[in-house]
Amino acid sequence: MEFKMLIGGDLVAGSGTMDVINPATAAVISQCPRGTAVDINAAVAAAKGAFPAWSELSVAERSQVLLKIADVVDANVDELARLITLEGGCPLEFTKFEAAGLAASLRYFAGLSLPETLIENSTSRRVRLVRRSLGVVAAITPWNFPFDVIGVKLPPALMAGNTVVLKPAGTTPLASLHLGRLIARIVPPGVVNVVSDANDLGDILTQHPDVRKVSFTGSTATGRRVMANAAATLKRLTLELGGNDAAIVLDDADVKKIATDIAFWAFFHAGQVCIGLKRLYVHASIYDSMCEELVAIAGKTVVGDGLTAGTQLGPLQNLKQFERALEYIADGRKHGKVIAGGERLPGPGYFIPPTVVRDITDGSRLVDEEQFCPVLPVIKYTEIDEVIRGINTSSFGLGGSVWSSDPSRALAVAERLNVGMVWINKHCDVATHIPFAGSKASGVGVEFGQEGLLDFTQIHIINEPAAQAT
Ligand code: ADP
Repeated sequence: MEFKMLIGGDLVAGSGTMDVINPATAAVISQCPRGTAVDINAAVAAAKGAFPAWSELSVAERSQVLLKIADVVDANVDELARLITLEGGCPLEFTKFEAAGLAASLRYFAGLSLPETLIENSTSRRVRLVRRSLGVVAAITPWNFPFDVIGVKLPPALMAGNTVVLKPAGTTPLASLHLGRLIARIVPPGVVNVVSDANDLGDILTQHPDVRKVSFTGSTATGRRVMANAAATLKRLTLELGGNDAAIVLDDADVKKIATDIAFWAFFHAGQVCIGLKRLYVHASIYDSMCEELVAIAGKTVVGDGLTAGTQLGPLQNLKQFERALEYIADGRKHGKVIAGGERLPGPGYFIPPTVVRDITDGSRLVDEEQFCPVLPVIKYTEIDEVIRGINTSSFGLGGSVWSSDPSRALAVAERLNVGMVWINKHCDVATHIPFAGSKASGVGVEFGQEGLLDFTQIHIINEPAAQAT
């Protein structure tokens, strides 16, 4: 398969190439273009050139283009899922949903409109709030869900009348480049551009004076840098950053009933999920039984190449993340007791089995930081107020969950958590129509839902004198 960038409607090889690694084997899957500043500038210029005509189309006309993109994504789900698994490591069973998820998101946003609100219609004035397009949007995606994350950026950006430069992460560019090829004849030239880089063009893109908005998903550290880069030209920003989601298990929870779901969301995609379950607080009265259940589930998990049928847990996506995972295991050993997993698997791939660490407390790196790997700290508590206070002092505030046999008790705890999204007796329940937003250092702005569309628009207030009485 040949990979090219999409710039101004043309498939472009670029002046350099780079290797893309399969994390399950550490071998090269393919080469692809390594974009340069020249390519980024050409993509922004193409997007700027395409903006007037695209933004002047009606919402209904833009919606038709989104639906055509959705059709082509749906028709190529198997191929796209294979690429996402090859470059990202996540098992095929899940990447099929990831690929189809972009089509679902395109269809969802294609069905929305940009409402006009009548603010006042009185004897003194008539005021309307309408929504305008912004211009060129930089959509910067991460390596954990290289395709899924396109779905929170591309569809609403386009629907709102903006044009896009999509820049995937350096270790996972293939599915995005393939998408560019699939839609090259569907979207007008310049409306969507795809530029791959070796994680070295982000500064140029986010400082570019012709980019009006940056929609970024990635680490909190890089998010801060994006915000600083955007300052000079006061770009609009959506930042979806890190999280350290806590799950709290109350003393009345049915351990056997909930352990499978808890383990799933702790270990899904090797823990590389921004709203994954990253630390588990369990009441002392059921702590030992919860630890035992988690050990049993971890021991049964099938770890391996995501392309192999039956694999439940793939590798860490890249070497840097794999090495970080080993550091978190060492921290877990120092401050707690490793009761499942804890050793890398032999072989060249970046595999860490589901790892459970007990007898660990707040104040250790594994609990306080975002580990982003399949290493779950389980913390014993007796005072719920202390747990809530601890969670609320974290700099992160993405998601969280509360587990109990009594939903009203769980709700009372959930309402006190300072996080963007909280779930009861489940974790990570996201959908295209439900706004997704983090608090504190977990993010700025909103994705998905009507709010996620409006985040790609500029408010335009039209204030007229009162209509003359007839
Ligand atoms: P990691 O720290 O794990 O490499 P990042 O948050 O840096 O993850 O990566 C997420 C995305 O941000 C990738 O597409 C990456 O290329 C991009 N990126 C990296 N550095 C910058 C930067 N200075 N400005 C904008 N985007 C960047």
